[in-house]
Amino acid sequence: MSFNDNVRQIYIDQLNEMKNGGIFKEERAICAPQDSEIDVEFPIGSEKKHVINMCANNYLGLSSHPEVVKAAHEGLDVRGYGMSSVRFICGTQDIHKTLEQKLTEFLGTEDTILFPSCMDANGGVFEAVLTDQDVMIADRLVHASIIDGMRLCKAQNDSFKHSDMNHLEQKLQLHQDKRMRLIITDGAFSMDGDLAKLDKIVELAEKYNSMVFLDDSHSSGYIGKTGRGTQEHCGVMGKIDIITTTLGKALGGASGGCVSGRKEIVEMCRQKARPYLFSNTVAPVIVEGALRVLDIISKSTERRDKLEDNTKFWRKGLTDAGFIIKEGETAIVPVMLFNAKLSQDFAKDLYAEGIYAVGFFFPVVPKGQARIRTQLSAAHEMHHLEKALAAFIKVGKKYDILGKTKQEIIDKYGM
Ligand SMILES: *Cc1c(COP(=O)(O)O)cnc(C)c1O
Repeated sequence: MSFNDNVRQIYIDQLNEMKNGGIFKEERAICAPQDSEIDVEFPIGSEKKHVINMCANNYLGLSSHPEVVKAAHEGLDVRGYGMSSVRFICGTQDIHKTLEQKLTEFLGTEDTILFPSCMDANGGVFEAVLTDQDVMIADRLVHASIIDGMRLCKAQNDSFKHSDMNHLEQKLQLHQDKRMRLIITDGAFSMDGDLAKLDKIVELAEKYNSMVFLDDSHSSGYIGKTGRGTQEHCGVMGKIDIITTTLGKALGGASGGCVSGRKEIVEMCRQKARPYLFSNTVAPVIVEGALRVLDIISKSTERRDKLEDNTKFWRKGLTDAGFIIKEGETAIVPVMLFNAKLSQDFAKDLYAEGIYAVGFFFPVVPKGQARIRTQLSAAHEMHHLEKALAAFIKVGKKYDILGKTKQEIIDKYGM
């Protein structure tokens, strides 16, 4: 069937359905480097507006850091622009091996393999290391890329209720007959900003002879006293068998991901993981940028300390003002509004005040749990946060939600 008018109409109808259902995603254009202050066109083509950015994964403020940019320039000069190859043909430079070594040291593991992205790492790792004799037991809120990776793997697919350790224990008991069990979790969960109970998970893994998989994308670089991630925060460094993480968030924010962990598992990925074998190498500029990032954060905890202070200020400021936030220790701070339309109106009013934060609602979060997700950065200065807080309070007053309970907000605006 060719792309005739009937076929075209099928897509037009589907897209209209998304628009009417309020789930159509519109891009905004950022016309500046990624930072705490950016120029935005929203909608694209409209006049640029200068805003404070409260929704980037730029946790350590390294996305446009002069030293990182400089290192990337040097990478470009010394190792060129592109590799025109996958890793195992002619796409591995000395610097790719150095970066893998540095990530291994930083994460306290045995070995590391780079992928074009963490989405690709998660897409390839399960199929490469498990067979139909094994079982994967995943937290029900793991990232979409893990769900996709699990679909590609022949091991049995099971899950436990989010952070419910009793439920996980039941599942581990249920699967004692399998050759291998793999518990799968995110470190920081991106919508609620809560951390996995990794110490309890490791305990259960030891009791029930299971391996542990951790995707630490939203934690690597800043969670834990030296930023080693959830495993450091929970005191289980070196006990996680498989860690995946991204270079696309705190660690410079460009792109790239990795699998790090037991050396035999990493070797299996080198032999079998399809996104590693069949997708292009991470570009040299990114490798050099990431090396500088690791250098900066290994020498000093200044940036993650500043982020911790910023996060504390922000969480306390919102709570004192009478907002309902999701408690936690990450730099992801959801401000609960419950009603979907309210979350969109609120975000629009914030934008008018020069604050850029996004409202999330069903199906991204459960029905009746709409929110504005704010994310802190070490690039935020106190004056940014004070201005953002004042804007939140102004808009909060407009909608009369300050100091109100969840029930009162739902009574007023509906679920
Ligand atoms: C962002 C994210 C990814 C994807 O990372 P990319 O490197 O951008 O593909 C994977 N897992 C989790 C938990 C994430 O938050």
